Amino acid sequence: MPEGHTLHRLARLHRRRYVGAPVEVSSPQGRFSTEAAVIDGHVMTAAEAFGKHLFHYYGSQGIVHVHLGLYGTFTEYPLPVAEPVGQVRMRLVGRTHWTDLRGPNRCELLTPPQAEALIARLGPDPLRDDADPQEAWERISRSRAPLAGLLMDQSVIAGVGNVYRAEVLYRQRIDPMLPGRSLSRRRWDALWADLRQLMREGVRLGRIDTVEPEHRPEVMGRAPRRDRHGGEVYVYRRTHKPCLVCGTPVAQTKLAGRNLYWCPTCQPTE
Ligand SMILES: [Zn+2]
Repeated sequence: MPEGHTLHRLARLHRRRYVGAPVEVSSPQGRFSTEAAVIDGHVMTAAEAFGKHLFHYYGSQGIVHVHLGLYGTFTEYPLPVAEPVGQVRMRLVGRTHWTDLRGPNRCELLTPPQAEALIARLGPDPLRDDADPQEAWERISRSRAPLAGLLMDQSVIAGVGNVYRAEVLYRQRIDPMLPGRSLSRRRWDALWADLRQLMREGVRLGRIDTVEPEHRPEVMGRAPRRDRHGGEVYVYRRTHKPCLVCGTPVAQTKLAGRNLYWCPTCQPTE
């Protein structure tokens, strides 16, 4: 599933391409036709990401909320438009480009109060300048749940998925099963700062790289990682492979139905 950096890249792209001018909105597949007709031809006034949610604002006409889920994608091309291929839920045609949305988990037209309510249910997003990490700290520092679970809970922190969760815990040398309330304030501050920095890099590069310069393939003399889930990482999907720092085989287990990866030596049980 795309993590927050992907949604922030989309919001940035859609600001550049579509905001500030009328947009043709349609639903070739038909499932979003009624809503598309309401906003078709109106000016997109803003495009924003909150965690894994994308919002297109059309003034008083409403707000399109998109959640990509596991399978959703936007594809974009320069004009002219071509015939739709496959199940296109929403098509946007702007001044210079057009984009098709396929397979989203959610694509719906919301009123401002509905959008505000949805955003209010999300925890702070490390990629947003208006994020208040104190809100997340208050939830985490009162919880007996393992940190690995809390970091994936979008109502605690918005935008972190399986890769950033595993990697930031590794980088901070934190036992993934440590209960939230056992985390010190100092370590929380370091974790949040690291997430912000890592995710900003993700927005910039469009992929998740988490290794320090000294652990890059060319420095260590190892082959680059080959994985459709992106860049150079310490533990994510590296089960049984040697830890890049200590050589211990990376461990894997399931937590709340999702795979969790960690190094038992670098992240010892506390
Ligand atoms: Zn290790």
